[in-house]
Formats: sequence, structure tokens, C-alpha cells
Amino acid sequence: MLSESVGGDVDVTLIDKSDAFVFGFSKLDVMFGRATADAVRLPYGEIAKPGVRVLRETVTAIDPEARRVTTDAGIHEADVLVVALGADYDMDATPGLAEGGNEFYSVAGAERLAGIIPTFSQGHAVIGVCGAPFKCPPAPSECALLLDEELTARGVREACQISFVIPLGTPVPPSPETSAALVQEFAERDIALITGRRVSALDPARSVAILDDGAELPFDLFLGVPKHRAPEVVLASGMSEDGYVPVDPATLETRFPGVYAVGDVATAGVPKAGVFAEGAARIVAQTLIAGLRGGERPGPHLGRGTCYIEFGSGRVGSVDIDFLSGPSRTGSFNAPSAALVAEKEHFGASRRTRWFGS
Ligand SMILES: Cc1cc2nc3c(=O)[nH]c(=O)nc-3n(C[C@H](O)[C@H](O)[C@H](O)COP(=O)(O)OP(=O)(O)OC[C@H]3O[C@@H](n4cnc5c(N)ncnc54)[C@H](O)[C@@H]3O)c2cc1C
Repeated sequence: MLSESVGGDVDVTLIDKSDAFVFGFSKLDVMFGRATADAVRLPYGEIAKPGVRVLRETVTAIDPEARRVTTDAGIHEADVLVVALGADYDMDATPGLAEGGNEFYSVAGAERLAGIIPTFSQGHAVIGVCGAPFKCPPAPSECALLLDEELTARGVREACQISFVIPLGTPVPPSPETSAALVQEFAERDIALITGRRVSALDPARSVAILDDGAELPFDLFLGVPKHRAPEVVLASGMSEDGYVPVDPATLETRFPGVYAVGDVATAGVPKAGVFAEGAARIVAQTLIAGLRGGERPGPHLGRGTCYIEFGSGRVGSVDIDFLSGPSRTGSFNAPSAALVAEKEHFGASRRTRWFGS
């Protein structure tokens, strides 16, 4: 948006330590063998926008007062700083997870599972969330449903049990309708749902998941959502409170002048999901453009978005969420349909084209 509106007048520097972007939902495609990791990578090098420099560097320090970013390649001074470093995974917070389990929230973890899931033909699979908040609250539910589909397709479902442990009270708390549809689906497909509990440790020697109330679940395959935390460099910057960067939910401003935070790194009153990161970034861009062009500032960030939910067997439902515009959060459910399959495809394709031109 900055490039399109004021590309000739601003220098935008985009710094990322990774060489490619991967949509969160593509990790499910990779773990269930529907796509290779290579096929879902969108190289940042393909971003070609007037006024925008893309640098592959690792941020090692952020000074929000001076709006100065230090990287492994040098120092960048800025008039405006937008911190969008996402959330990292804290594998050490769950003893035994790295040795005895698998996680499907990173591309590497999903890729590893693509080799393991086809070998699982009998026993107990546990999908376990190790802490909240976590990205894309419907994703572990999708994982349970897609695992059921995969085992059914291979004719081994009868020999397997699936349990799903989630620390939230329902699968998607802001949308009772969506939660009810998922709970019904789990019941019909014999997926045991354990709500209000998180996996606090794994005992790899005994292949047991230990829940936060001390209960134990023996497993043959553990598919985990690791505990999340802001990247170390953000925690060390003095910007964070309670683990993430507090912002004004309406404007995404931090308490430091000229410094914004968007996406999973921020505490902005919305879930950690790409659709909200995009909406927040749009507000910041509009604010900066208005400042440069002298136009009107945008209205407040409303925290609205649609999350698509894979039900398996090619069925896609969705939930329309509205977090910030009214007195209470609302989320309405759209049952799986062919139209939603096409809508999800369009959601990804339109972003690929807009951001990467591919
Ligand atoms: C399995 C799964 C399914 C999902 N499904 C959906 C979905 O269907 N819909 C949806 O809206 N969301 C979904 N999400 C969530 C979505 O992927 C994230 O919420 C979204 O990517 C957050 O965007 P972000 O820009 O805040 O962070 P990220 O996308 O994580 O980007 C942060 C960037 O910062 C870079 N970085 C971090 N530290 C440094 C450093 N020190 N120096 C330089 N660069 C650094 C990283 O390389 C990364 O590219 C899903 C997530 C998962 C895991």
C-alpha cells in the first residue's frame, strides 16, 4: 500500500531473516502430503515494488525510542518502525516435546510429519496444545479432522484412536456456532475432545502426555502445538508486557512515538491469525499515507476477518469474526460448501498475486 500510494516519496525497508513466506494453512497441506514444502514457499526475493527494499537480515536488537534496528548486517535508522516479527515457539516450555513429540506449527515440523503420518496405522494419536494464546485457534481442530480423513482413506481408522487436547473451553470460543459444529463433527467421527486442559509435558520414555491437571494420556503419535512467545529480540527491546507488545487496538500504536506493532507479536485484542495481521497492517499503512499526503486518518481497526476451516474430504467451512467493532465479540459459522472451497482458494491466490506478483 505504501509503495502504491507514496512509493516515490518513501523508502520502505522490509527486513526478514527468512527467504520466503509460507501461509499458515499451507503447513497442514504439507503435513498431510497434499503439497511439498518447496511448492508452498513464496520467496521474498520476488517482491518488486517501487520504493521497497527487501533485506534478508536477522534483527538482533530494537531500540524503540531511537527507532533503530540492529541486524547481523548493520544498523537501520527509521522515522517509522513497524514491528511484525510474529510469535516464536518455545519448545523448552514443554519438557519432552522436542524429544518425544512432533509439532506441526513450523514448516520443518510439518515436513517431518509428512514422513511420519503415513507410517501410523494403529494406536493412539494425540493432538495437544501446549499453551494459549496460540496461532489460528481452529488449526488444531483442522488437524484432528484431517488426520481422521487420512486414516480413513488408508483403511486403518478402526485401529486408531484420536484425542484432541485444547486449553480453551471450546474449540473456537468467540463463535459458539462454530464450536458446536466442530464438537458435533468430533462426536460423529469418534475424536475424543478434552477442553480446558493443556499438555504440560511429555514423558518420552513412557510415551505419555501429561496434562496440566496431572492426568496422563498414553500416545503412539503426538502432534503438538508448542507454547508460543514473542521473539527474544522483542522481549529484550523493552517493548513487551506479559510476553507481547501492547498496542492501541484501534491504531496499532505502541507507547513509543512512531513505533507500531502488527500481527502475532502484538496484543491487539484479536487472535493470532494472518487475516488480522493483514487488517492491522492495512490500518498502519493508511495512517502513514494520510500523514504523508495530508488526507484523513483511517477509522479504527475493527478486527474483522474470515477464517477458513478444513473439515476433511475436501470440505471447507468458515467463521466470520468481528472482534472490536461492537461491545462484544461475535463469530458466525458458515457450514462447509463448495463455494467456501473456492473462496479459500481465492483468499490465498489473491494475496499471492498482490504481494508476490505470482
Ligand atoms: C498450522 C497453522 C495454520 C494457520 N492457518 C491460518 C488461517 O487459515 N488463516 C489465518 O488467518 N491464519 C492462519 N494461521 C496463522 C498465521 O500463519 C499467523 O497468524 C500469521 O502468519 C501472523 O503473521 P505475522 O506477520 O504476525 O507473523 P509471521 O507470519 O510469523 O511473520 C513473522 C516474520 O518475522 C520474521 N522474523 C522473526 N524474527 C526475526 C528476526 N529476529 N529477524 C528478522 N526476521 C525475523 C520471520 O522470519 C517471519 O517471516 C495459521 C498458523 C498455523 C501455524
